[in-house]
Amino acid sequence: MTSLFLSLSFSLSLSVDTAMVLSHILIDFPQQTTCQRCNQQVLTSPQHVRGCYAWFMCVFIFIFGGFLGCFLIPLYAKGFRDVHHMCPSCQEVLFVRKRF
Ligand SMILES: [Zn+2]
Repeated sequence: MTSLFLSLSFSLSLSVDTAMVLSHILIDFPQQTTCQRCNQQVLTSPQHVRGCYAWFMCVFIFIFGGFLGCFLIPLYAKGFRDVHHMCPSCQEVLFVRKRF
C-alpha cells in the first residue's frame, strides 16, 4: 500500500513539474485568453520589450569582458526581453512575462 502511494505521489509531482516547464516555454507564444477590457476570447499578440534582465546582462557582459559590441546582444535578442501579451483588438496589455 505504501509503495503504491509513493508511486502515485511521484507520478503526480512529475506531471506537475512537466506542466510548469511547458507553460514556461510556451509563454513566449500567443496564448488563448479572455480580454478583460473588450470581453472577447482572443489570441494574444506577444510584444518583446527590453526589461531589467536585458539591461542587467548588457552591463554584466560589458564589465566582464564584452568587447567589439558583444554587450549589445542582450538588447536585441528576443531571449533576453520581457514579453507583453496584448489584446489584438483593443491593444490592452493582458499579462507580462518578466525574465528577471
Ligand atoms: Zn481587448
